[in-house]
Amino acid sequence: MPRLIFRILLIFALAGAAGWGYLWIRKNVSAASITVGDRIVDVQAPLLILGLLLGGIGFYMLIRLLRLVFFAPSLAARALERQREARGVEAVTRGLAAMEVGDAKSALHEARKAEKLLHHRKDRSLARLVQARAQTLAGNADEARQYYEAMLEAPGTELAGLRGLTAQAAASGDTAKALQLTRRAVELRPRDPAVLSAAFDTQVAAHEWGEARQSLAASILAGAVPKAVGKRREAALHLAEAIEADLAGDRTRALEESRAALKIAPGLSPAAVLAARLLADGGEKEKTEAARHIEAAWAQSPHPDLAEAYAALAPDDPPDTRRKRLQRLIKSYADHPESRLLSAELALSAGDAAAARKALAGMEVNHPGARVFALMGAVARAEGASETELRQWLARAVQAPRAAWTCESCGLTAPRWVCCCPQCGSFDSFHWTWPPAAPVADGHALAAAMAPLLEGGPRAASARPGPGVEAPAAPPPRPAPGSELVPVPPKAEGPEARPA
Ligand SMILES: [Zn+2]
Repeated sequence: MPRLIFRILLIFALAGAAGWGYLWIRKNVSAASITVGDRIVDVQAPLLILGLLLGGIGFYMLIRLLRLVFFAPSLAARALERQREARGVEAVTRGLAAMEVGDAKSALHEARKAEKLLHHRKDRSLARLVQARAQTLAGNADEARQYYEAMLEAPGTELAGLRGLTAQAAASGDTAKALQLTRRAVELRPRDPAVLSAAFDTQVAAHEWGEARQSLAASILAGAVPKAVGKRREAALHLAEAIEADLAGDRTRALEESRAALKIAPGLSPAAVLAARLLADGGEKEKTEAARHIEAAWAQSPHPDLAEAYAALAPDDPPDTRRKRLQRLIKSYADHPESRLLSAELALSAGDAAAARKALAGMEVNHPGARVFALMGAVARAEGASETELRQWLARAVQAPRAAWTCESCGLTAPRWVCCCPQCGSFDSFHWTWPPAAPVADGHALAAAMAPLLEGGPRAASARPGPGVEAPAAPPPRPAPGSELVPVPPKAEGPEARPA
């Protein structure tokens, strides 16, 4: 816009100057005398002005013509170059479009064409980038690596090159190289949220918990991760390190890390369970600390493993004393389904079927999980219900979903908390999830449908020993071959797995 205004003003100024010049000549020059050889020619002012104007235009045209003659070859070369460049950019566009739809063959063709057409350019980043991506898509890892390495030479594409090489190293399982490249990227852009996020993923995959915590802290500082989410992730990193140390037999580090996790997130139940297990063998002081961790975790996020660990702290307690101790957990979060289930189990173990029924009231609708139906069956049995009614509860228990560690990103369930989802790769996405409230299925219809499967079910259940909590339980599902992850958790499910 300012340029346009400037041009208009310039045109006005030139027109004004020309008008003023014309008037000045008309006023001060009546005629000009021009000597041509021996003759003197008198020229009128308007004619003189016209002559000067035509002379100027002729001179300009001559200069243009001479320029064209002398510079024609270089001008033609430049025009050709521009044409080649335009074709090269077109090839890049077509290549990117082919990549977008996953057409590796066309992408490769266009990338090669683009490289050929843009070869003369001083900056070859664009051609390298499109080649690297097309070669990756085509599965040509070696060729792609060469282009990514070439991209490291130019400051504009260094980061993209590092990212491509990191992905290649991670895909080939070379975690050491992936980490090294990640460190270089962080050095290059220490505050870039995308770089920090990629670094965090690589460091977590490499189990470099300390470095991952540093990347996380930098992400929080950069405002890329909300503080509350960052704190929870920090706790999850400590827990992951604690689990790893525990598996390696390093009790001291496992305890240290689980304590660090609980300091940040007291409700992180797997950390409390691990800390309690590690402290359970100690003296009174350690056991008191373990109980404190479990109580704090239950008050925020009750989990059956917490109750089990709490009971295990005093295995020799008489049943009444144990029930009294567990009541402490229930009181800290009385409305939670886990608290109500625990309450029902304790009531059943004390032979108080009415109290158990009261604790379970409404849960078959609001929390229609397998354990609820199994406990309802146990209550019915304690109250002397008929075989038909018991079969109905059993059918519901078999059919119902179970509370499980569930990945909130992809829905995968796991028998225990894991820091990274093996299916979608999300970090700290596993949460203890209860089945949603749903209309309860018709027990009669289900019992009929399940009849062939339930042959001897209740009889088998009644043969199981236990203090009045031997509710029929669903058989544990078979894990997928080679995988620890199963559709439902086999542990911590069913009242027989619980302390009573
Ligand atoms: Zn997932």
